[in-house]
Amino acid sequence: MSTHVVVNPATEEAVTEVGSASVEETDAAIERAAEAFPAWRDMAPGERARLLRRFAALVDDHIDELAELEVRNSGHTWGNATWEAGNVRDVLNYYSAAPERMTGLQIPVAGGINITVHEPLGVVGIIVPWNFPMPIAGWGFGPALAAGNTVVLKPAELTPLTAIRLGELGREAGLPDGVFTVIPGKGSVVGERFVTHPAVRKVCFTGSTEVGKRIMAGCADQVKRLTLELGGKSANIVFADSDLAKAAAAAPMAVFDNAGQDCCARSRILVEQSAYDEFVSLLEPAVQGIKVVDPADHSSEMGPLISAQQRTTVQGFVDEVDVAFTGSAPSGSGFWFPPTVVLADSVDQRIWREEVFGPVVAVMPFRDEAEAVQLANDTEFGLSGSIYTRDVGKALRVSRAVEAGNLSVNTHASVRYWTPFGGFKQSGLGRELGPDAPNAFTDVKNIFISDEGPA
Ligand code: NAD
Repeated sequence: MSTHVVVNPATEEAVTEVGSASVEETDAAIERAAEAFPAWRDMAPGERARLLRRFAALVDDHIDELAELEVRNSGHTWGNATWEAGNVRDVLNYYSAAPERMTGLQIPVAGGINITVHEPLGVVGIIVPWNFPMPIAGWGFGPALAAGNTVVLKPAELTPLTAIRLGELGREAGLPDGVFTVIPGKGSVVGERFVTHPAVRKVCFTGSTEVGKRIMAGCADQVKRLTLELGGKSANIVFADSDLAKAAAAAPMAVFDNAGQDCCARSRILVEQSAYDEFVSLLEPAVQGIKVVDPADHSSEMGPLISAQQRTTVQGFVDEVDVAFTGSAPSGSGFWFPPTVVLADSVDQRIWREEVFGPVVAVMPFRDEAEAVQLANDTEFGLSGSIYTRDVGKALRVSRAVEAGNLSVNTHASVRYWTPFGGFKQSGLGRELGPDAPNAFTDVKNIFISDEGPA
């Protein structure tokens, strides 16, 4: 079996080696999941709920262990990593209420009765990126399992450790063999097999738009169900009538959280012309105040990038432009990059158009509401965005006008497990989370029962 060396991005030291599954091993895991499906589907709803609640309780008992693994494997700050492990627990608890609530409709018809039922699909394949290994895994397997599917999950090559541990905790909680299997390995091997194996009935992919398009094309061959959560280039729109101090204080972590490796990062800041100079002067100390230190230090606010390659990519964007100011970053080993602010000159610059996936933000002035909306929408992406204003009507108009799946007003918080999440345009397809997520792991069946007596 080939292996992958897992590296601590804050120190560049090897943490451990993880095996990469072959096509044959992937097939064997998919076939075990297919065999486990009928019994899992037919289990009494209350029993399936009880097992998911037990899984949630075990995750809760292991929050510190999971967080510690994520700090070492992914360079996430301790604060973020504990939140992320808690998010898996919360998602499992939330969807543990679903098995007993997967209700259909009874639709009035003549000559009998008509009902709909939500039938689980079978095996669901979940492909996870390296930027949020725990939450993105949980957003897939929580509702998929609750709806009665079995799951095979592939973590990213760089960040497999927490997913492997979650797989063990699921077994310990009593999930039957084959119901939830974590298969570390390459995208081109394990991920690709999820797309081509006919027993996998749905693929949930989170990652780059480029790979997402390939997966979508591959799924077409079997008309395979598909959810895509892809890239973003989200706008933070700051109007002159907003609480500017609050907007400037909040803007840095809306893009630099997780070192900017966040699909929802508000990496374009649009500021109304009349407030532009004041906003930029307030932004500078806020950026310089970010504590970029060892993520294991509980007070750390930003850690390193995930890899040397990612640092080279981010540096490539910054080399093309003039930097206005930066925050700090440790020197020495580790894939560190300081929070960086660029005053964009043109909408044609790569820094303005492309997803950097690092701690870099571009700031640009706008004249009026119409131009703010036009600039925000001048992108192929549409994942999230923020609007800062004291005018409620304007907040509502702009929220409706921005072509993105997740908008927030006077805050950057827009991801909650009990509200839907997903992208417009090339940021994605389908929705995760929220009350309807389990239904996305089912097909609706319509049944008509005739009340005709015997002939
Ligand atoms: P990536 O697309 O290279 O990889 C994502 C996952 O897909 C990994 O597990 C990888 O092994 C797998 N993969 C790669 N090639 C594959 C193939 N041919 N078939 C099947 N699976 C394959 O992305 P990444 O570099 O891991 O993550 C960064 C990107 O993900 C960024 O562009 C970011 O915007 C995006 N992202 C989006 C969201 C979202 O929710 N919209 C969340 C996180 C990351």
